[in-house]
Formats: sequence, structure tokens, C-alpha cells
Amino acid sequence: MSNKKLAQVWPERKLSAYALVITLSCNVRLRVGKLGLCRFDAGNYVYAGSAKRAFDARIRRHLSSEKRLHWHVDYLLASEYATVRKVWAFPETTTECGIIGALVTSGAVNVPVAGFGAGDCRNRCPAHLVRLSKKADGLFKRLGGQPYG
Ligand SMILES: [Zn+2]
Repeated sequence: MSNKKLAQVWPERKLSAYALVITLSCNVRLRVGKLGLCRFDAGNYVYAGSAKRAFDARIRRHLSSEKRLHWHVDYLLASEYATVRKVWAFPETTTECGIIGALVTSGAVNVPVAGFGAGDCRNRCPAHLVRLSKKADGLFKRLGGQPYG
């Protein structure tokens, strides 16, 4: 996905959660902040997050390579082998935990690194990053998601 100007799907104030579909082109080991050295197998991943304000700026930050590594996902996206393939935006009724919960329930995912991205999670998600074993576009649409950008 390019870093060109992103289209607005809805007015920003109605957006909340998002899902980044990330493709990793080979197996890597990455140091991820306090999680330490983590192994990620090649494949497709979903990272779910939320930005109740400045939604567009948050997405742009994820897509930018010029940033200080802060969130767990920053370390993954800093890998030269990781690419954000698609961004899904969700209305306020769908939370980041709701997205992860639906993916886990669908059985279409596994959790490569327990707790990844879920430091602030109050819903006991296994992580806010999951590895997809099949496409999840249909599931995202059922949750009210639309491609963003
Ligand atoms: Zn959660």
C-alpha cells in the first residue's frame, strides 16, 4: 500500500478501530521492545488498533518509515520484509478487541507472540496481532469494516 493521500471513508470522528493487514515476506526474528526477541513466520498478519482522535494521522504514522519505535507494531513494520497491504477502518461500534475476538473465534488465525500490542487491552485478548491462515476480508466486512485509503 502506498503512502499517498488517503481517502476519507467516513468523517474522522466516526472512525475508531482499524486493522492493518501486514504481509511478511520471510521468516524473521525481531527484537520487540520489552517483549524481547520474537519470531515471526512469513505470511499475512492482522494488527488491530484504535484511534478515537486523529484517525488519519495514526494510519499515516503506521505507514511511515520515519518514526521512533514506540508501539510493538512499529518494530514489526520497521522490518524491510514487512509491508502493510491493506488498511480496514471500522465504525465506533466495532472495537479493536472485537476485531481480534472475531478473528480468533473464526479459527482463521494463530497468535505468534502472546501479548503483542495488547498492553492496554482490558478484554484479555491473546494479542492484538494475529497471523492469518486464510483471508479475512469477509469477516472484516461483517464487522462493518471498509477499506481505508
Ligand atoms: Zn484486546
